[in-house]
Amino acid sequence: MDFSLSKEEQLIQKAAAEYAEKFIEPIAKQIDEENRVPDEIIKGLGELDLFGIPFAEEYGGAGAGYACYVLAMEQIAAASSGVGMILSAHTLGLGAIDKFGTEEQKKKYMFKPCRGEEVASFAFTEPATGSDPKQIATTARREGDYYIINGTKRFISNAGYPGPIVVFAKEEETGKVSAFIVEKWCEGYSISEPWEKLGMHGGPLLDVYLKDVKVPAENLLGGPGMGYAILQYAISFGKVGVSACALGGAEAALREAFKYAKEKMHRGEPITKFQGIRLALAEIAERVEACRWMAYRLGYLADHAKDPAQFAKDAALTKDFICAQIVDISRLAVNVHGSYGLMKDYKVERLWRDAIMGLQIEGVSDMQKEIVAGVLLGRK
Ligand SMILES: Cc1cc2nc3c(=O)[nH]c(=O)nc-3n(C[C@H](O)[C@H](O)[C@H](O)COP(=O)(O)OP(=O)(O)OC[C@H]3O[C@@H](n4cnc5c(N)ncnc54)[C@H](O)[C@@H]3O)c2cc1C
Repeated sequence: MDFSLSKEEQLIQKAAAEYAEKFIEPIAKQIDEENRVPDEIIKGLGELDLFGIPFAEEYGGAGAGYACYVLAMEQIAAASSGVGMILSAHTLGLGAIDKFGTEEQKKKYMFKPCRGEEVASFAFTEPATGSDPKQIATTARREGDYYIINGTKRFISNAGYPGPIVVFAKEEETGKVSAFIVEKWCEGYSISEPWEKLGMHGGPLLDVYLKDVKVPAENLLGGPGMGYAILQYAISFGKVGVSACALGGAEAALREAFKYAKEKMHRGEPITKFQGIRLALAEIAERVEACRWMAYRLGYLADHAKDPAQFAKDAALTKDFICAQIVDISRLAVNVHGSYGLMKDYKVERLWRDAIMGLQIEGVSDMQKEIVAGVLLGRK
């Protein structure tokens, strides 16, 4: 067992940390207030290859795997979880094409997104449900060499950016769910205004309206009726990004708590003299350490996944654990700040709002526990 980082891992981690510190951190408050990530940031991340870290070079990626993706995402999300969310949802959508796409599909749809020239999406959730695929109401009707897709998708990350979107729809003929690669902004594709959400500002969440969208049959992903299997497997890889994003937030909360505790004076001494503060700082450090190694391990497992059910279990338990921890970690960091922690002048206020979001993304907490228990109890 080796816990040290390879040269390549260190390089990617350093490049992401430097970019985050120089370009994202100074405008992170602005991103939060305006709920928008400037285009130059997307371009900069693309130039650093951060939009295609885990994917093969032959499709435009960096070929560095998910372990490196976790290291980079941790650094980016520590500066702004909104930017992290864009990267995470993008990698989820692209990951589905990477895992299940044909050679032609990968060559056609991965290049530009891997370079950050386009941003990918993944559209499962609908107004009726995000947890239950049986309730999917979006339909796909086969007409000759095309499918005609109709429906509404809810809370879709990155839906306004040009690029591929993986859409899950029920085939009218069979009633089975299939997955399709759709090009955003094709005829019949439209979006809502961005949802005004509590945290992770800058990471855009929109509804997608699909009205008689004509998709070539060759854009079917996997095979007919494979939608549910694709969803389950792809979303497990998506949880690598959500976990790393939450880890970044946890790391940022730790930094802010320690910084404030060392600076804030009472009777001429820093508040670190109080045992309650020292205990809170230690507890934050303990929890962040656990989150870090679980997230790094999940990155490693994603690069070596053999059994989809086991990987689904590991992804679910990691995502659920870290996203629950970060709510407590950021609350402890707010407490260290006293009332200042509730003020927008202090970063912990944003970190706490961002932290709450994680538990719902890519499957709510209860659903993660269902997956974990199901696999451990032998229901594959
Ligand atoms: C920041 C953010 C980004 C997102 N990005 C995307 C995206 O890019 N693409 C996308 O498709 N979706 C996205 N979503 C949507 C998200 O994945 C869903 O909202 C989530 O899966 C939950 O679905 P729901 O909100 O419809 O809740 P529901 O499925 O309606 O669940 C409501 C409640 O019922 C409980 N529940 C439901 N079914 C069960 C069950 N079988 N067992 C136990 N409890 C159950 C849940 O625990 C929950 O508490 C995003 C959400 C957020 C917050």
